[in-house]
Amino acid sequence: MNIEITQKANILIAENKIESLKLLSKILEEESYQVRQAIDGEMALIAVETEVPDLILLGVDLDKIDGHQLCKKLKQQDKTADIPIIFLSEFDDFEQKIKALQLGGVDYIIKPYQQKELLVRIKNHLKVSLKIEKIKENNKQLEKKLKLIKVAQQFQKQIPLESHLLYQAITATNNSIVITDATISEYPIVYVNPGFETMTGYSPEEVMGKNCRFLQGNDRQKPQLEEIRHCLQQGTSCHVTLRNYRKDGSLFWNEISLSPIKDESENIIYYIGVQTDVTDKKRANEQQQRYEASLQKMNRELYELNQQLYRLANMDGLTEVANRRCFDETLEQEWRRLSREKQPLSLILGDIDYFKRYNDKYGHLGGDDCLKRVAATLAQSTFRPADLVARYGGEEFAIILPDTPHQGAKEVAQRILDSLRRLRIPHKASDVKPYVTMSLGLGTITPSLDIDIKSFVDQVDDALYQAKKQGRDRLKTFVHHSDPSSQS
Ligand code: GH3
Ligand code: MG
Ligand code: MG
Repeated sequence: MNIEITQKANILIAENKIESLKLLSKILEEESYQVRQAIDGEMALIAVETEVPDLILLGVDLDKIDGHQLCKKLKQQDKTADIPIIFLSEFDDFEQKIKALQLGGVDYIIKPYQQKELLVRIKNHLKVSLKIEKIKENNKQLEKKLKLIKVAQQFQKQIPLESHLLYQAITATNNSIVITDATISEYPIVYVNPGFETMTGYSPEEVMGKNCRFLQGNDRQKPQLEEIRHCLQQGTSCHVTLRNYRKDGSLFWNEISLSPIKDESENIIYYIGVQTDVTDKKRANEQQQRYEASLQKMNRELYELNQQLYRLANMDGLTEVANRRCFDETLEQEWRRLSREKQPLSLILGDIDYFKRYNDKYGHLGGDDCLKRVAATLAQSTFRPADLVARYGGEEFAIILPDTPHQGAKEVAQRILDSLRRLRIPHKASDVKPYVTMSLGLGTITPSLDIDIKSFVDQVDDALYQAKKQGRDRLKTFVHHSDPSSQS
């Protein structure tokens, strides 16, 4: 019963006389009680089973199940044993009265009763019943506490004298140590060392018997808590770092190492948690991470800047192929490398035919545009990563083809001429074709440090001059070394 007596206690009246039943109901309802009625013993039993009343007024001579039998039955069941039962009888029969009280009735009232007296008695019995219920509840709490104390005592007993050193160590460590009872589903704390109080601000008395979750506050870090839950379910160990809160509400990062403690039969009886406040470490880590991230960002920006600088230093601004500076450097590098490796190098120099006239006809901007298109065509006609297309000067281009023998280089040169012809950039002022053409000189050499690069380049330039002289829009080639028959 969890209501005040005056606040609608639930009373069942079991009485076989209709008039009496009605009258009693009226009296009690006027006092604001909740009243249910039963005309015989069977109905009364059903009513009790449907909802346990706070008090029963029970006629002795009920039909089907009489008052005594019903009382006996109710007293035998846990659920109904504590309902105060007041017997109602028409006779002042001493034997019956004794029997009723022996069966567990709290009172015995003989009709006709005084209304006031009846109400006072009912109220008193309800009060007593309420008190009994409170006492029972208190007892339950006390039993629970007693059990925890016993567990704690048993645990302390388990530390034999020779383990005193160990106990002292646990007491002395700055780490927080928490031991919980694994035989109780709530995993109540049975031991905390002084380190726990230092770390969390909670005293042992405050936390004894509680589940550790109070350290969580309202914070629910699903994955970590899930890991702990899983570890407890599986009876395994785990290592997690949780956001926890001290008694003063301040946050700290708690690195917890959780392990089961087993008895001789391998049953898990306790869980021990060794906890370390890693807030400072975590902060330092976060700071380092931030620092590393900004360093990475700076490096990336620096790299991009360098790339840009490199491009600016090596790329021709108009045509976006390599500039003369890049050409000179690359040629020198490749010359040295191929000298060592004794591999061939081919060089193509190309010059747009009648470009001065082109400018005159289509304007300087038109000329620039033409240069761009020609450069793009040259770039598309070379396939290997090591090939380098460069703007050699004005309307002249150079293509370095490392590791490329003469035949291969000729194919590249031919491809250039063909692609340019296919482009058909109109050039009405040209004497060769009505579209833009180029003259190419190609030379192949197996470089040697004894040979002057410039003299080789001049030779290629000569070939180009020959191409111009022989009518433009063509290729003149040679292989550097003594074999003049290879010239065409
Ligand atoms: P050839 O067939 O003998 O090579 O005759 P050409 O007119 O092409 O040769 P020339 O060397 O007489 O003229 C080259 C012209 O290229 C001179 C200049 O007007 C033009 N030129 C050089 N650099 C640029 C440039 O950056 N943009 C433009 N639009 N024209 C350029
Ligand atoms: Mg020229
Ligand atoms: Mg020219």
